[in-house]
Amino acid sequence: MHDVIIIGAGPAGLSAAFWCDDLGLDTLVLEQDEKVGGQLAGIYNPIENYLGLRVTNGQEMLEHFSARIDEADFDLWTNVEIENIDLKARRIILRSGEELQSISIIVATGVRRRQLGIPGESEFVGRGIIESAARDAQLFAGKDVCVIGGGDAAAENALLLAEVCPTVTLVHRGKTLRARREFTERLQVNHCITIFKESQVQSILGGDNDGRRVEAVEILRAGAIKPFQMAVGGVLIRIGVVPNTELFRGQLQLDEQGYIITGRDHETGVANIFAIGDVSNPLAPTISGATGAGATAVKVIAARLSSH
Ligand SMILES: Cc1cc2nc3c(=O)[nH]c(=O)nc-3n(C[C@H](O)[C@H](O)[C@H](O)COP(=O)(O)OP(=O)(O)OC[C@H]3O[C@@H](n4cnc5c(N)ncnc54)[C@H](O)[C@@H]3O)c2cc1C
Repeated sequence: MHDVIIIGAGPAGLSAAFWCDDLGLDTLVLEQDEKVGGQLAGIYNPIENYLGLRVTNGQEMLEHFSARIDEADFDLWTNVEIENIDLKARRIILRSGEELQSISIIVATGVRRRQLGIPGESEFVGRGIIESAARDAQLFAGKDVCVIGGGDAAAENALLLAEVCPTVTLVHRGKTLRARREFTERLQVNHCITIFKESQVQSILGGDNDGRRVEAVEILRAGAIKPFQMAVGGVLIRIGVVPNTELFRGQLQLDEQGYIITGRDHETGVANIFAIGDVSNPLAPTISGATGAGATAVKVIAARLSSH
């Protein structure tokens, strides 16, 4: 029986584990990936808004976190697959068959990128699907590319690609871009960037040979009956995120987008089950917010345990 089991080892889960160690709680962290860090692994630009640290990317921030985490005393299991969870009983069964029991559970499973679900999206990963403009722009220099999405992330990536690509076509489903004004103003005056609003990419196409790579996209524009093909050498997709809450459906109260609903203390509607970080739909999903939520939840748990 552990005092606390934390599910997810992104900034929120790691911060919670660190606080658990500080407050002397017996803690186990379960992470599904091979490595810890969550979204930090996918941040390729400088992070300059976390007080006390200025780093060139998420990996460097993780190294700072790890230096402290390594000194802390808690169990961390990676590559773990949770088969079943009974939140009321606070019992977790792993795919390996192991059964775990805890007084409290902290859900820190974060979010993942939303997928379009169109042909070619998975097939061309690593072969023309651009993971990040901050990391990969030079690999696509001189190629015409397509960016799908209309928010800050899509706009920021389109602007970065426009520095090295002859044309960038930004395809957006809505009537207006959701990106902040700073970005939309720069998009509109950039001669390399064309914006297709009320349009959808229906498929990503590649060549027929063995080393197939992205060669074109099929775009359906507003009012058109048929899609048209546009030749591109790369496609970057940024259409938002979805919370990792499938495991808790039917057991926790979720909002209409699937995020976990909690109170100020980060406790969910089920006693002793807490949710922290991006999975609990913070107004501003940030590293500071995620680490702060970890601190709050653990302080609440520790106070409760010491009063029993
Ligand atoms: C490109 C990019 C740039 C960003 N830039 C900034 C920035 O400059 N400043 C800033 O403050 N924030 C930034 N953010 C946001 C910040 O990274 C997130 O707010 C933060 O990572 C949220 O932490 P989290 O621990 O809640 O979730 P996550 O980082 O999503 O971590 C969740 C973890 O849970 C694991 N998990 C999920 N499901 C399970 C399961 N069933 N079992 C076990 N483990 C599971 C995941 O594998 C992951 O490791 C950026 C994000 C991105 C993508």
